[in-house]
Amino acid sequence: MLPAPRFTAFNPPRRILMGPGPSDVYPEVLAAQSRPTVGHLDPLFVGMMDELKSLIQYAFQTKNEMTMAVSAPGSAGMETCFVNLVEPGEKVIVCRNGVFGERMRQNVERMGAIAVLVDNEWGTPVDPTAVEAALKANPDAKFLAFVHAETSTGALSDAKTLCALAKTYGCLSIVDAVTSLGGVELRVDEWGIDAIYSGSQKCLSCVPGLSPVSFSSAAVEKLKNRKTPVQSWFLDQSLVMAYWTSAGGKRSYHHTAPVNALYALHESLRMLVAEGLENAWQRHHDMHLVLRAGLEKLGLNFVVAEASRLPQLNAIYIPEGVDDAAVRTRLLKDYNLEIGAGLGALAGKAWRIGLMGFGARRENVSLCLKALEEVLS
Ligand SMILES: *Cc1c(COP(=O)(O)O)cnc(C)c1O
Repeated sequence: MLPAPRFTAFNPPRRILMGPGPSDVYPEVLAAQSRPTVGHLDPLFVGMMDELKSLIQYAFQTKNEMTMAVSAPGSAGMETCFVNLVEPGEKVIVCRNGVFGERMRQNVERMGAIAVLVDNEWGTPVDPTAVEAALKANPDAKFLAFVHAETSTGALSDAKTLCALAKTYGCLSIVDAVTSLGGVELRVDEWGIDAIYSGSQKCLSCVPGLSPVSFSSAAVEKLKNRKTPVQSWFLDQSLVMAYWTSAGGKRSYHHTAPVNALYALHESLRMLVAEGLENAWQRHHDMHLVLRAGLEKLGLNFVVAEASRLPQLNAIYIPEGVDDAAVRTRLLKDYNLEIGAGLGALAGKAWRIGLMGFGARRENVSLCLKALEEVLS
């Protein structure tokens, strides 16, 4: 026998999460998650999943039939879109203006497809002119992939214009909406988005570990006409959907759904519906303006130009001579406040202050400004 490890129960403190995610979870969502676990094919649970699908459709503003939550975080949603739609040898135009665009490239290349890169400076949005040039130069491209809200820099790209361009040049659009969903305007059907994925732990303020995903009928058509099988068994949508749809009144086992996490997502989306999607967008915008005014008073400068700033992710330059890690440690220790470090090219150069979901409220903004003022002085 190995010696038995003995620990006390893990009781985390209540932090205030103002980084790039996870965000503060609604108390109602935490309560929902601790309700009794039922079987993943229990008729009552299956009924809740039908509601969950409608709730995800509302959040995405889509009528897409193939709409569900992947049983894994946003990165698995990303992989779901690429692995189901892209076949080896196909060309994908990948827009890269931060960490997550680069991950899209890696997805594409790992599945034996060809990534044509459109690079834009970190902190700037994807440039539609450069995208159109790439579409013109690559008439054989099948997809346009881009990140709507680049969490590594805080830049918002014009998803409506980019998806219209994709359509004009006969490409399907693949959109990362992990940070945008619930925080800024996003209209899947109206903007003609073909494949989209998000995450539970950003502006939905749910627990981490789930990824809402939706495919348009054109994307479903592409999936149906594949010449090669989807490389991933777990993420193969045609198998997963046998569990997520009650077509013919019967759902079949694919994998054990994360039952309690899905209760949490159901509750967080119910809260989004209760608030109203447009009201949620407005609240993120309003809180961003309050935060911005305070940050400017402290002499802190934004990484992203005003026109393309994300309200839910505020990247600011670390002032000259200030110790990045020391400040974040003090915020955590003395104020229970987490803000994000810089990522990739901005590591050590910027902080990322998230105002996501339940976190986008006045008390959080005031606490963050007060704490920063005290720690920096
Ligand atoms: C957080 C994030 C992801 C990855 O999501 P995980 O849940 O961490 O796997 C992907 N894209 C963007 C834009 C993100 O902000």
